[in-house]
Amino acid sequence: MHHSDFVHLHLHTQYSLLDGAIRLEPLFKKACEYKMPSLAITDHGNMFGAVDFYRTAKKYGIKPIIGCEVYVAPTSRFEKSSQEGISDSSYHLILLAKNAAGYKNLVLLVSAGYLEGFYYRPRIDKEILSKHTEGLIVLSSCMKGEIQRLLHKGQKDDAYKAASFYKDIMGERRFYLEIQDQNIPDQKGINRDMLEMAKKLSIPLAATNDCHYMDEKDADAHEILLCIQTGKVVFPQFLVVALLLSQLVSNHQQAVSDGDNGPLPAPACGQPMEVSRKIRTSDAGSRPSSLTENPPQPGRSTPLLARTLVVARTDPDPGSQMLCGGELFYPRV
Ligand SMILES: [Zn+2]
Ligand SMILES: [Zn+2]
Repeated sequence: MHHSDFVHLHLHTQYSLLDGAIRLEPLFKKACEYKMPSLAITDHGNMFGAVDFYRTAKKYGIKPIIGCEVYVAPTSRFEKSSQEGISDSSYHLILLAKNAAGYKNLVLLVSAGYLEGFYYRPRIDKEILSKHTEGLIVLSSCMKGEIQRLLHKGQKDDAYKAASFYKDIMGERRFYLEIQDQNIPDQKGINRDMLEMAKKLSIPLAATNDCHYMDEKDADAHEILLCIQTGKVVFPQFLVVALLLSQLVSNHQQAVSDGDNGPLPAPACGQPMEVSRKIRTSDAGSRPSSLTENPPQPGRSTPLLARTLVVARTDPDPGSQMLCGGELFYPRV
């Protein structure tokens, strides 16, 4: 069967509390229609949808990639103050599990975000991430990612420093600069800088779409969700931003198209890598490979014992195991 040439590696489901309007059954039905071999879940700061996502993916014969768009404290996760409140309290970062070890680290990090770093959002920091990188792949996330924000502010040196940090802790081919195109004017400059950075630092690129809803018609509903979350009033002009490129798209061309200006980063990014087939999720079908339980820490009451799925088995040769699909590119150097 001929598969789609695009896999979503950055996607927010209904579990992405008040910032995601994608329900799982329609999602996987549409993914089957688009012949997508794989899909990732990367909800904001939580993994509440991981079990449901895994099981539904298996039901539809699609390979699940479990991830999270975590919040990263600018300094320490224990530092709970900021000058501008929520807006500078954290950066975004995408973590994807490529095997069982990665899944365990993902669970640990997300839990630490709530238990140790909560300040407006559940936040991790670079210190804890650097100790738990095994089995994870990191993408630089959206315009709210650290690198993109620094580039936007013109702090190029700091942006390069941040990118080098992630490249160093993740090692080769486990850190990607994320390219997105939501038709936002500022994004064009950021993308140009990201392409340049990819070449200079030899960091691969991943094109993503930051999906928050399924179809264009769902954009309004999603905006209303966001307004509920942020306590804002719905203005019609909000509904125009990111209208098309936050929806589930069927192919690579749509994901990287730059509105009226045609395809944006793809031609400059070199050959797409065929990596989707390299991930090894459990093929247990209706039965997940294993369930782990996280007992409450001493002194804490946990009314709901988290039952979580290990979604991928460890590859005997981790070096050969690249996660996931999507359009992953190496820049032409
Ligand atoms: Zn984001
Ligand atoms: Zn996102």
